[in-house]
Amino acid sequence: MAGTIIDGKAFAAQLREKVGTLAAAFEEKAGRKAGLAVVLVGEDPASQVYVGSKGKATIAANMASFEHRLPDSTSEGELLSLVERLNADPAVDGILVQLPLPDHIDEQAVIAAIDPDKDVDGFHVTNAGRLAVGQSGFVPCTPLGCMMLLTDRLGDLSGLDAVVIGRSNIVGKPMAQLLLDANATVTIAHSRTKDLADVVRRADIVVAAVGRAEMVRADWIKPGATVIDVGINRLAPEPGASKGRLVGDVAFGEAREVAGAITPVPGGVGPMTIAVLLRNTLVAAHRNAGIDLPEGAI
Ligand code: NDP
Repeated sequence: MAGTIIDGKAFAAQLREKVGTLAAAFEEKAGRKAGLAVVLVGEDPASQVYVGSKGKATIAANMASFEHRLPDSTSEGELLSLVERLNADPAVDGILVQLPLPDHIDEQAVIAAIDPDKDVDGFHVTNAGRLAVGQSGFVPCTPLGCMMLLTDRLGDLSGLDAVVIGRSNIVGKPMAQLLLDANATVTIAHSRTKDLADVVRRADIVVAAVGRAEMVRADWIKPGATVIDVGINRLAPEPGASKGRLVGDVAFGEAREVAGAITPVPGGVGPMTIAVLLRNTLVAAHRNAGIDLPEGAI
């Protein structure tokens, strides 16, 4: 029997609704809306789309959206002064600088300039450190979204074998950390891992965050495993089509026949990222305003 499809789109819609309700209650208590500032430098078309959809989702969740679209010619100094202003602005609870930045700007310097308590992307080294030592901070949105889907599906992850393929700072490493915190036994695989298929075959939970179209095949998957596919890859267009299909890092059709549950691409992990960004902004707003967010509310 084919595995269950994990509907990230529906889960994300529910999360956004919950955030919207709590954000309205926050506005009543704080006398202001929770606010998210998104900064885009340059004209990268994909980034323009992402920033536009983040702005719309923020407003739909009863929060204030502050968009800063700067030209490609913006200097690092100008960007750093904008970040400083946003750090100091009491209407701004969360700051997101859309990556990638143009080559003449040092991304790490910009991330380091964001106030860690407004770093709703969770990329600041202080938040990476907090996650590593088990303190509360902001966790990067994509892995936190994957974790929500996993716990919704599996409940307690204690003792399960998890393999994360990919070790980036924004997905693979925080994902592994979250799984470890949930008492899974975690293996992190990467481009130098030997016998990757054998490693993945041991896993009750597979998280693929590689960026290689359909790399993980059905015969890599332990029967019944839960498979979370973070990859977003565009295939070459079919003859006559203007755009190629989007696929994940997992060969979905065949893997579904073996897995117990699996996220599709699109409609799996992707929609979770913005929903978790809104959730992190709501948490930031409560902390900044000194208002309690009931434990487990979100
Ligand atoms: P990175 O390119 O930063 O990292 C990719 C990781 O995959 C690296 O650790 C790399 O290993 C590893 N890798 C590359 N090739 C292989 C291979 N042949 N076998 C095993 N491991 C390999 O990517 P990101 O982490 O930023 O993103 C991963 C994917 O997730 C991308 O497709 C991206 O588009 C997608 N993504 C999706 C998001 C969403 O919202 N759904 C958000 C963020 C990312 P090494 O370190 O050795 O080089």
